[in-house]
Amino acid sequence: MIRFEQVAKRYATGHDGLGSVSFHMARGEMAFLTGPSGAGKSTLLRLIGLIERHTRGQVVVGGQNLQRIQGRRVAYYRRNLGIIFQDHRLLLDRTVFDNVALPLVVAGHRRGDIERRVRAALDQVGLLGKERLFPVTLSGGEQQRVGIARAVVNKPPLLLADEPTGNLDPELSQEIMSLFERFNQVGVTVLIATHDVDLIRRMGHREIRLRDGRLAPAGRP
Ligand code: ADP
Repeated sequence: MIRFEQVAKRYATGHDGLGSVSFHMARGEMAFLTGPSGAGKSTLLRLIGLIERHTRGQVVVGGQNLQRIQGRRVAYYRRNLGIIFQDHRLLLDRTVFDNVALPLVVAGHRRGDIERRVRAALDQVGLLGKERLFPVTLSGGEQQRVGIARAVVNKPPLLLADEPTGNLDPELSQEIMSLFERFNQVGVTVLIATHDVDLIRRMGHREIRLRDGRLAPAGRP
């Protein structure tokens, strides 16, 4: 599903976000991306999401060489990805329903179709019944679930999450990680950047460890 071959990213400022990283993630796999702050975790996710472009090497996602995806094809490519951020980036002046519906509205789905899919996504994250509420009235954990519902609403085969539990206490973090596991169990490939090594080592998935923009020895716990 994801293949990195000697991938480097040098930002316009001259900073190296990634050195030379090679790894492979199979379709249907779940892995955690770990490493200290500044190790390159966000950079790696942003390269997969085409939020940034790599400057050396090759990135192949779902059989597509990302270098060949330019212009209008970027938006089409991104429809195959669900991206979740630590700060969930919800629209505060829109309801839960409208936030989750956004990717479907942008993709031009019909109203009835949107309603059905949004309800299904909210059901999957345990928020059915909260469609009409505004994000500020929800707890931090619930807001993150809205972000997850929005990411999965068009059923992408790949989910990327950047510190999705960064603002949550241990119990809520565990719940959010379990939610990702459930999507993985139905075949979604999941890659999550996190600081929370105590939590993820208990979960027993593959750990891809970065340090100074390079892969550090890790493997399966
Ligand atoms: P992590 O997510 O592991 O904390 P990042 O990918 O954010 O690491 O950062 C990796 C390196 O790239 C750091 O040295 C950081 O300063 C640099 N970096 C990240 N984003 C940018 C940017 N937009 N411009 C310049 N340098 C950046």
